[in-house]
Amino acid sequence: MNAHSTATANNAELEHYIGGKRVAGTLGRTAPVYHPATGHIDMQVPLATAAEVDQAVQAALAAFPAWADTSALRRSRIMFRYKELLEQHRDELAALITRQHGKIFSDAQGEVTRGIEVVEFACGITSHLKGDHSDAVGGGIDNWNLRQPLGVVAGITPFNFPVMVPMWMFPVALACGNTFVLKPSERDPAPSVRLAELLAEAGLPAGVFNVVHGDKVAVDALIEHPDVSALSFVGSTPIAEYIHTEASRRGKRVQALGGAKNHLVVMPDADLEQVVDALVGAAYGSAGERCMAISVAVAVGDIGDELVPLLRERAKTLSIGDGMRKDVEMGPLVTAAHRNKVAGYIEAGVAEGAQLVVDGREHSVTHGEGFFLGASLFDHVTPAMKIYREEIFGPVLAVVRVADLKSAVELINRHEFGNGAACFTSDGATARAFGRQVHAGMVGINVPIPVPMAWHSFGGWKRSLFGDHHAYGDEGVRFYTRYKSIMQRWPDSIGKGAEFTMPVAK
Ligand code: NAD
Repeated sequence: MNAHSTATANNAELEHYIGGKRVAGTLGRTAPVYHPATGHIDMQVPLATAAEVDQAVQAALAAFPAWADTSALRRSRIMFRYKELLEQHRDELAALITRQHGKIFSDAQGEVTRGIEVVEFACGITSHLKGDHSDAVGGGIDNWNLRQPLGVVAGITPFNFPVMVPMWMFPVALACGNTFVLKPSERDPAPSVRLAELLAEAGLPAGVFNVVHGDKVAVDALIEHPDVSALSFVGSTPIAEYIHTEASRRGKRVQALGGAKNHLVVMPDADLEQVVDALVGAAYGSAGERCMAISVAVAVGDIGDELVPLLRERAKTLSIGDGMRKDVEMGPLVTAAHRNKVAGYIEAGVAEGAQLVVDGREHSVTHGEGFFLGASLFDHVTPAMKIYREEIFGPVLAVVRVADLKSAVELINRHEFGNGAACFTSDGATARAFGRQVHAGMVGINVPIPVPMAWHSFGGWKRSLFGDHHAYGDEGVRFYTRYKSIMQRWPDSIGKGAEFTMPVAK
């Protein structure tokens, strides 16, 4: 069944993608996938059993030896064809994202583009797998290194970027010679199957890339499977920590990217118009469901007095509706449960004494059947409040007021998360101090959402990332390969007799 054909048939069931073809779920355990703009069920997603996960791992295991032995150049040529296909299907994929996630179509197009950029990086994998070679290190010996693939690797991804986040992982993993099992979010799983079909169309052999849908049962099966060598995870911090602990304990390589609470510091010398544009886009874009969304504005000195009224006007008048409509700036949240959870945070903020300047619950669109919630703005939020401490993952912006840059940096550094942090200023010394002192993995200077390019690497600090490697770019290549050093000589350079001393270069 094609993902599009399921659009009107509410109870049609999506398939897994195993061994180069769509495979129906076997045991009938399913979950509904919604169309958040209408609130209707879009399709059912099968929830894999451990046996179905094993089927995908076995397909990947069988495909591994030939794929690992395929030259890096041939693997990169498949990536080139994949890039072309993704460009041809960009709008189809973007429409699927908007359909099941809810974000506006132009944002979904941008998501696909950021995924394609990782494929572009993977097209150049030959250069990244090139080893170093030291000629004649002593006694006719040469020493060089290889980076070899790990085997079957798995990716477990969140709902908020159903195309881009899987593509942070598998283009690099596959180009390095691994085979892959993807367990996408069960909340918007349809794009992942299209990504698999396009890979096959690009020439990827059957079994090299597989998709199994599911929930905790499937994730645990991947963690426990003895033939899965490594796990990449992106999602909330409690699950990231769980996966990192459990998979590491079983000797697997793990990178687990978790939640966030990203601050944007507004210095008194910043251009306020630029700041307001940046904050409105970064806090309310994609309904705040981005791990790099700005959820805290840190107003330095008296700037908050000017900033908050400007933010208020913009937040109140945001255009909200079905993300396929061109005039819409913010779509619905992903599910009713998530919308209600975010609304619960608004209630908590009021109860804790923060000043609710704009109440998103009052927006006219929020009364429809879709999972809509308007933009909310809180002022005079303090670090002790739950709405400051916890990741809300919705369209809620908190303004915290501090006296100076030092206090702003201290505030950010005390927070448990350290994904992104931004500072808006026109002063070079301030920018430099902020960039050097702030405890976050990704820093923006007058850039609100500093998501690194595909040839850099993505990752946070503190409880935003568990593991040693960031995602994609050079760090991705290191994560998905094992380093091997080879020393070699030939019989005519070997002297007679056993050596009992430590060999040293001569
Ligand atoms: P989530 O943690 O609920 O789900 C992520 C994945 O884990 C899904 O595939 C899900 O099926 C699986 N999962 C859920 N519960 C599980 C359990 N009990 N045991 C094992 N697996 C389980 O996250 P989400 O709601 O889909 O996504 C939003 C979260 O992801 C936010 O916290 C956001 O900050 C984070 N995120 C982080 C980054 C980053 O780069 N750091 C990027 C995107 C999203």
